[in-house]
Amino acid sequence: MKLKNKVAIVTGGSKGIGYGIAEEYLKEGAKVVICARNKEEGVKAVEELKQFGDVFFVPCDVSIQQSNEALVAETVKQFGRVDIFVANAGINDPDKTHYLNITDEQYERIMGVNLKGVFFGGQAAARQMVKQGDGGAIVNVSSVNAYLALDSQMLYTTSKGGVGQLTKVQAVALTDYNIKVNAICPGPIDTELMRRVGSDPQLFNTVISRTPIGRVGTPNECGRLAVFLACDDSNFVFGQSIFIDGGRGFQAFP
Ligand code: NDP
Repeated sequence: MKLKNKVAIVTGGSKGIGYGIAEEYLKEGAKVVICARNKEEGVKAVEELKQFGDVFFVPCDVSIQQSNEALVAETVKQFGRVDIFVANAGINDPDKTHYLNITDEQYERIMGVNLKGVFFGGQAAARQMVKQGDGGAIVNVSSVNAYLALDSQMLYTTSKGGVGQLTKVQAVALTDYNIKVNAICPGPIDTELMRRVGSDPQLFNTVISRTPIGRVGTPNECGRLAVFLACDDSNFVFGQSIFIDGGRGFQAFP
């Protein structure tokens, strides 16, 4: 087991990619805390996940700095420490608002979760890891869209581009503490978020046709990459954003 005796937090672990990561971490022996805003869905996810190991749910909105601190504090209360932090929670802006019309409110909503949440979530976890004194791992969830100029998802792609840069800077800032930081960049993965974005069948078909492997990925496939980035197998991987996208990133446009 690659994560035996490790304690991991997975934000947005109540469904989708976060759920897949939580499941794979549990299978590798980690104790896992998942968070999300919707308590009912979080509790339901824990009920399903507990067949794989020790897991509990903390309600948390990652866009609020204090909530990230409370999440870490609650994890320490339950499991005694934090070794791995996965900043996965994220939302999209599928309403296709043109740049000229994007409001301050829309900006704050997307950036608050996708960039501020990753920034302060990682900070809260890193502070705890530094206190423990024996290193750790942070895995951020970016997107292949961080590298595509999708003006129909202007805020989303901008936020995910920020996550790529943040990952590099975090890796440098935390290297003296032996805290490893990397990111995964999923392409189309079969989750609610993907289905909402792909609710336009023509767009969905276009996404598939521009994904060389010819299918969407699964949350558990993302989970396997997140295991690699959390365990010692990846100890010389530094500040990287690793694509898991069936080749979607090779294609220039949506
Ligand atoms: P889902 O919508 O399926 O799940 C999102 C999860 O994040 C839920 O658990 C949700 O719970 C939680 N969440 C959302 N906002 C917050 C918040 N403010 N605080 C805490 N938790 C929150 O999304 P995916 O699994 O598809 O996406 C997960 C990550 O992967 C995101 O960062 C996304 O951008 C990224 N990604 C996804 C791709 C895909 O094709 N699916 C492709 C590329 C990247 P709740 O609503 O209850 O808070």
